[in-house]
Amino acid sequence: MTGQCILCGKCMEVCPLLRATNREELAPRAKSELCRVLEASPGELSEIDAARLAGLCLGCGRCAEICPQGVDVPALVAGLRGAHPNFKSWLWKTWLTRAKQLWAPGSAAARLVPEAFHIGNLGPMLKMLAGMSGGSGLEPFAEIGRFPDTWRGERMLLFAGCTANYVQSRWLAAALKLLDGLGVEVLPGDFTCCGSGLKCAGFADEGADMAARNVAVWRAAGRPKVVTFCTSCLAGLRAYDGCFEDEAEQEKWRESQFPLSRILHHADFMISDNVPEKLGYHHPCHAGKADPDRDLLAGVLGGRLVAATDRQCCGFGGVMRLAAPGATDPVNRECWDALQGAEVVLTGCSACLAQLSATAPEGVKVGHWLEIMK
Ligand code: SF4
Ligand code: SF4
Repeated sequence: MTGQCILCGKCMEVCPLLRATNREELAPRAKSELCRVLEASPGELSEIDAARLAGLCLGCGRCAEICPQGVDVPALVAGLRGAHPNFKSWLWKTWLTRAKQLWAPGSAAARLVPEAFHIGNLGPMLKMLAGMSGGSGLEPFAEIGRFPDTWRGERMLLFAGCTANYVQSRWLAAALKLLDGLGVEVLPGDFTCCGSGLKCAGFADEGADMAARNVAVWRAAGRPKVVTFCTSCLAGLRAYDGCFEDEAEQEKWRESQFPLSRILHHADFMISDNVPEKLGYHHPCHAGKADPDRDLLAGVLGGRLVAATDRQCCGFGGVMRLAAPGATDPVNRECWDALQGAEVVLTGCSACLAQLSATAPEGVKVGHWLEIMK
């Protein structure tokens, strides 16, 4: 549900695309107005205009978070993408719905393409694909000496997400090891993709099908807690709507979503000598203001955490990588400016990680925080 813009300008202060580009036409309220005008007849947009529209929003959700009127600009843009018959997002759809078959070979193949072939829009896309697997990964340096008893014996489902399931199996192995140490019984559950990437790209029906399937898995397991370790998946799961028996069930679903970092907060960590001296943390936009990954890492790493992003988006932008990769560059540069000085950058979002791995300065490594766990 999205309200009526009153032109208060609050969203202008938080939009990373506006801040990095200084282009007023990319501001959330301009998009809100544009979507309102086009809502009645989206089919009249030309193919070129539709492709431009896809480049207008990173889908970071910062404007929606702050808007007093409940205007959800990324949802408006996604709706328009979905309604537009000329929008060429079939490639994105294929990529998202066939993750199992395409992601691992796609990422491996992209790493083999020589720099000389990184021409035009293809270059950023190939780098993003290669970055998904994170190369050889980070060298682990953190270990839990004593696990808290808080969750011992609790039965939970694990929502690993497409990247961990199909490309980054080491994250899945690390998460299972931690849950085992915590004494959590991981229930079997055949979750599918969270569907948020499809929703953002304009495929509302496909996203809704995935949501309904995931909620059915949770229901069949007795509505237990659901552990996640990807910030974007968590945000996508929490935003499910329209697939519940009633409001009480929807509320129960939201309360059941648990980031793995949150249940590790009372664990005692030991750091080994191979720890890098200068670490950075990227705060994903979809984490919102409260970010349990950041809180966990601040406690574990202390003074070694020398740089962190706060309002700086990585510039991934989902479908923007295909439609307007150049528009994300200034946003991405601002992000790396904030991370200056870090030798290793950690994050908890698979999409941010793909983007940051693809754009990291020479000598800087990027990884999911799970990769530092021994
Ligand atoms: S914060 Fe909301 S109401 Fe205010 S200008 Fe932005 S979209 Fe409009
Ligand atoms: S979702 Fe992010 S990039 Fe898009 S208009 Fe809102 S703040 Fe700007």
